[in-house]
Amino acid sequence: MDEKTILVDLQRCIGCWTCSLACKVGNNLPDEEFFLTVRTLGSGEGIDRPAGTWPDLHMSWQPVWTTKCVKCAGRLAKGELPYCVQSCPCKALSIGDAAAAKKEELRDRGFRFFQMPPWESTRDGVVYAEKK
Ligand code: SF4
Ligand code: SF4
Repeated sequence: MDEKTILVDLQRCIGCWTCSLACKVGNNLPDEEFFLTVRTLGSGEGIDRPAGTWPDLHMSWQPVWTTKCVKCAGRLAKGELPYCVQSCPCKALSIGDAAAAKKEELRDRGFRFFQMPPWESTRDGVVYAEKK
């Protein structure tokens, strides 16, 4: 992982969209533009629809960075965290040395790591951690 790789601890993500909105506000994006969105991994029928059949329902979330994300280059140059990383209330996101240390910790706890496949055309330099 290089110093600009973002590590996402999917176990901690609650799908609140704070990261996405922090990016919008911080970068002054227009209403219709998002550099980062959050997918619901549920039934596929909407952001509030769980998968499964009652009572065995389940739902999880995955923040996804578009290629428009500039990794907050200006903030990183000043030693500041990207808006998305800084704003996550669940500490699901990390970058730089913190991400490297977190990855080691999660590996020791049995997490596996993956990246988005190339055909998704998402921002590179994002690593996801999920419990095996
Ligand atoms: S790194 Fe910066 S530009 Fe990229 S999604 Fe996060 S806040 Fe937005
Ligand atoms: S990564 Fe953090 S801020 Fe973004 S949706 Fe997940 S919990 Fe919320």
